[in-house]
Amino acid sequence: STDAPVSLVTGANRGIGRETARRLAGLGHTVLLCARRREDAERTAAELSGPAGPAGAVLPRRLDVTDGDGLHALARSVEAEFGRLDTLVNNAAINYDTAARAIDVDLDEVRHTLETNLFGAWRTTQVFLPLLRRSARARVVNVSSESGSLASMGGGTPAYGVSKAALNALTRKLADELRAERILVNAVCPGWIATDMGGAGGAPVEEGGAGVVWAATLPDSGPTGGFFRHGRPLPW
Ligand code: NDP
Repeated sequence: STDAPVSLVTGANRGIGRETARRLAGLGHTVLLCARRREDAERTAAELSGPAGPAGAVLPRRLDVTDGDGLHALARSVEAEFGRLDTLVNNAAINYDTAARAIDVDLDEVRHTLETNLFGAWRTTQVFLPLLRRSARARVVNVSSESGSLASMGGGTPAYGVSKAALNALTRKLADELRAERILVNAVCPGWIATDMGGAGGAPVEEGGAGVVWAATLPDSGPTGGFFRHGRPLPW
């Protein structure tokens, strides 16, 4: 067990998830750096733990968010090792389908996208909720996107946009159901960030991690059930 906050980040072997893990470790959190391939988790954790290592430990863990059995197995091991989870960052996502249209997209592709982007976050939160309930400062961050904002929703990115709109709705439901237990649940758009998903034109990855970490480290008086970018509210 540890007094440091215990934080779990999904899809943390690259992009915004990796940067979020790096920052949380820098703040002294014990970070469970999750990737769907064990070797990716191990390599990334080793990179982040390097000679000028962070204040907190970075521990590699294998996790595919579409694998319910794997999620339960990881939760059991976190329970045995730490007895609780303080921060859950649901970051893993796929398929920014810019070339597709809702009028003719293959629905199997939409279903596949929802399996990771919506059900992955939903399932992960359900499985880790008993451990989050044992935390005195539980925070859940759903890494979303303005593509999921109904206020600015046009055509295009049908699978991705619908997955993030649904993730935003889920954020509201979870926040409401967990409000009395003081578990803060928020959705964060990291902004347009230069990653494999975002492409080269976006802002540096450090900028995307900052807004996620802001929501992951909110004080007890902080908001719940909100949608934010860089710590500022976005329209749903
Ligand atoms: P990347 O494509 O760079 O990284 C995605 C990460 O998710 C990878 O680590 C990938 O693992 C992981 N992943 C995918 N499927 C699964 C799965 N089933 N189980 C576990 N991990 C999985 O994306 P970004 O870093 O850009 O995106 C991170 C988050 O930010 C996403 O939620 C995205 O929607 C959001 N976002 C990004 C924006 C941007 O401009 N980049 C803008 C708005 C939102 P693997 O390496 O194995 O594929």
